[in-house]
Amino acid sequence: MNSTKDVHTEHCCYWHGCKYNDEKCTVVSGDLDQSGPCEECAPDNRTQILKGAASFAGWLMMNAEQDVINEENLHYWICEYMKSDDYKNELEELK
Ligand SMILES: [Zn+2]
Ligand SMILES: [Zn+2]
Repeated sequence: MNSTKDVHTEHCCYWHGCKYNDEKCTVVSGDLDQSGPCEECAPDNRTQILKGAASFAGWLMMNAEQDVINEENLHYWICEYMKSDDYKNELEELK
């Protein structure tokens, strides 16, 4: 896990691209993890992303809330989930 932050991690998206049209975007290149869903990533969908991340991590959905005590752990799985095909499919369905 890479928890380094820069201007890209706060605004860009692995799937939706660099907000600054920077070819060397650290998020698009996968070098750094984006901090969360971008504006196009259905911003109201935090619960959905949380559930997706939980299932991606192999946690039981029902226990997700309890298991997600460790914020750093959660952030790791959210980032992993958001880079996965599962999340990509989720985005496709939302279109
Ligand atoms: Zn960027
Ligand atoms: Zn996005």
